[in-house]
Amino acid sequence: MLQEVALGQRNLADYTHIVGKEVTERIRELAEPLKGKRVLHVSATAFGGGVSEILYTIVPLMRDIGLDAHWHVIFGKEEFFNATKLLHNSLQGAPETLSEEQWQLFDEINLMNAEGLEGEWDLVIVHDPQPIGLRRGASEQGRHWIWRCHIDLSNPNPAPIARLLPLIEEYDASVWHMPNYVPAGMDEGRDGVNIIPPAIDPLSPKNMAFSPEDAAFICRQFGIDVERPLITQVSRFDPWKDPIGVIDAYRQVTEQIPEAQLAMVGSMASDDPEGREYFQKTYEYANNDPDIKILSNLNNVGAIEVNAFQSQSDVVLQKSIREGFGLTVTEALWKGRPTVAGNVGGIPLQIEDGISGYLVNSPAECAQRCLEILGDPGLGKSLGREGKEHARRQFLSPRLLRDWLELFTSLES
Ligand code: UDP
Repeated sequence: MLQEVALGQRNLADYTHIVGKEVTERIRELAEPLKGKRVLHVSATAFGGGVSEILYTIVPLMRDIGLDAHWHVIFGKEEFFNATKLLHNSLQGAPETLSEEQWQLFDEINLMNAEGLEGEWDLVIVHDPQPIGLRRGASEQGRHWIWRCHIDLSNPNPAPIARLLPLIEEYDASVWHMPNYVPAGMDEGRDGVNIIPPAIDPLSPKNMAFSPEDAAFICRQFGIDVERPLITQVSRFDPWKDPIGVIDAYRQVTEQIPEAQLAMVGSMASDDPEGREYFQKTYEYANNDPDIKILSNLNNVGAIEVNAFQSQSDVVLQKSIREGFGLTVTEALWKGRPTVAGNVGGIPLQIEDGISGYLVNSPAECAQRCLEILGDPGLGKSLGREGKEHARRQFLSPRLLRDWLELFTSLES
């Protein structure tokens, strides 16, 4: 009943020149005793969002080093996904949560999926809350069960977390992006609690190296004058990403550098009314300024275009007021772009203020840092270089693969 996701190929050898031999050799050493192990990843969807982006890279890499790795997607229906969206938001603090009826549906669909789980597995990795009930219903089919959480559970609504905690504790191990995502009552350092930050794939279309000419060519198609300074933020249209603050900061920049341009690139799901509303609000706030380009997938902006805008920018912003990890920051750092970002969530883990970018707390501070970078190309270059090296060491797929293998080894021994 669960759907197997068809995957492309990745070769670890292709990453050696990027991350260095030490990491890839360590991966091969760890992989040796794990060869042939049956590893199953289970998630709610194969489309959109950080989880699927990571799995499209990490599962093929696991296969490449000899694991018998697969990725299955659970079956669900609209009411179930409405309930899990509510669960997702309430686990991150929203007051509204599931009704008793919705919890029953949640348990039922999880049980149905557990019954539909096929095969015998050495390791089963269940991603995020939607399929968390699989272990309870299918425990016989996996020797080791890991729950991988991609969201911040540090400040949850108490009712849903109380319901979730016993389910998490049935797993042999749980994995979190950062120590402060772990909910109270499941402290870091406790047996089974592991901290593994996410990573980006430097060889994916979104992050592969573009020549400056190619990036400029693509940006020009969206009306950017590539001879003038460009500031970009890539983000969903969401209050926590502060698009209004981005426009305020940009306006302050143009008081001194009138030729600067702003690109706001944000994906818009057709079934996300909240996103549409905020898109509209941002659009109105930009007030038809021809130098503010507001673009989305509705203008055909996909991974390649996001790559081009990030690569072409003189400054990349991520002016979040609240943030999970902030993969857009990793993407900008990896492209060697000077990055100015909110001092929240996972961003300080990625940017050391003044060394590998700037951390800011207000639109005025954001504008000030942009002006400093735009006024001093040497500064931008040095921030970009440091940021890129930090991303190379900490936030690329091979490091993530290595961390997974270390966890598998500890569970298997
Ligand atoms: N993204 C994209 N197109 C957009 C907006 C965002 O491809 O128009 C991607 C972005 O490149 C990143 C991810 O969506 O890979 C967003 O992840 P992040 O952790 O920054 O934020 P989230 O949306 O998960 O809060």
